[in-house]
Amino acid sequence: MNTTASSSGPLAGTRFHRNSAGVLCCEGRPLTEIAQAFGTPCYVYSERTLLQAYQQFAAAAAEKNALICYALKANSNLALIALLAAQGAGFDIVSVGELQRVLAAGGQPDRIVFSGVGKADSEIAAAIAANIKCINIESEAELHRVAEVAAGLKRVAPISMRVNPDIDAKTHPYISTGLKENKFGIPMDQAEAVYRQAKAMPSVLIAGIDCHIGSQITSLSPFLQAVDRVLALADRLAATGIEIQHLDLGGGLGICYDDETPPTPAALLSAVFDRLQQWQQTRRSPRPEILFEFGRAIVGNAGVLLTRVDLLKPGPHKNFAIIDAAMNDLMRPALYEAWHAVVAVTPSGVPEATWDLVGPVCESGDWMARDRRLALSAGDLLAVLSAGAYGMSMSSNYNSRPRAAEVLIDAQGQAHLIRRREEFADLIAAESIPDYLRK
Ligand SMILES: *Cc1c(COP(=O)(O)O)cnc(C)c1O
Repeated sequence: MNTTASSSGPLAGTRFHRNSAGVLCCEGRPLTEIAQAFGTPCYVYSERTLLQAYQQFAAAAAEKNALICYALKANSNLALIALLAAQGAGFDIVSVGELQRVLAAGGQPDRIVFSGVGKADSEIAAAIAANIKCINIESEAELHRVAEVAAGLKRVAPISMRVNPDIDAKTHPYISTGLKENKFGIPMDQAEAVYRQAKAMPSVLIAGIDCHIGSQITSLSPFLQAVDRVLALADRLAATGIEIQHLDLGGGLGICYDDETPPTPAALLSAVFDRLQQWQQTRRSPRPEILFEFGRAIVGNAGVLLTRVDLLKPGPHKNFAIIDAAMNDLMRPALYEAWHAVVAVTPSGVPEATWDLVGPVCESGDWMARDRRLALSAGDLLAVLSAGAYGMSMSSNYNSRPRAAEVLIDAQGQAHLIRRREEFADLIAAESIPDYLRK
């Protein structure tokens, strides 16, 4: 087939290509056919693109006593979890709902780590009962809570402390998590004291140290700074007789949305393993297992959001194109002013103009892209790129909009519906009108 691959930008290295007629395809399947079959807005994921991204991490971690976890909150569709579980991935979860998703999709409990600043007692109990690998503790108060819940179940909970290394990940403030003003983790200078408390508790077992400094990080140095601080803590703990079994270095590797050039998975992991190698030479204890928790870098560029131009509203100040995908479908622009590339699926004959692409939701914050040079007509099909991560998983029913369909394209170009479009009945399924309000 005569297809053209992009050499840079969000589609580089993916299975999304234009065919000889200029139509954007996934595995050779024109996205026009997907829109026809499943409607819009619609998330389309490429199985091979997802697996290639995961396998880059897995290959870089091979023979290193390391576990690549997938951070479920980036995209928690069961089919995607099942694909990764079949590869032997671990999973980073932040709620009992995510635990249930991993188990429902066939993931192994002993490869699950549980992160998050506010875990409910019932969530902690469910995690312990499921025999997950580790609970990442984010505060002294949470340590006591986990110890109590475990004691109540007559169990010993494996734990690590998520430390806050106070490092600027140089990313958007809302996705920066490793600065001391962020709510996440235990401050470095308190970590030893909390570990000492944990050591005295019979219902917890100290398994590791955990950190996660932010998301969409596009340079190596914040990761390496965090590694150094975690290793220094491991040394201080070892000096007080606390040996840890694993180091969880979190996720956060960025992707290309526009023209960013983040380190490749291989470059990041080899830089980290080099540091660890040097450090290991200075100590006698066994080498700890290394965990990572990547979300965006695994799924981000494996998905696009298909949307149709509903109508055009040109004006003297701004040209608006109203599209059928809105902030409830893809929240990142409204939430972080995130930039997504938007491309026409089919080449257009009309002249280019500068457009703001906006959704139908009643909020001025409901925009997808601003000031884009595009050749648009009503009815055109567009693809919002890099929409695989924090797209569907952040979607809502705001404005009583049913959530979009999700479609997986396999390596042969076959399309599989992996989440049907919601209907009105789904919107009201959990609601009821009390009898006294009924006539
Ligand atoms: C969100 C999150 C991740 C994944 O972040 P990405 O930027 O998607 O890789 C990993 N660990 C924790 C604790 C998180 O909260």
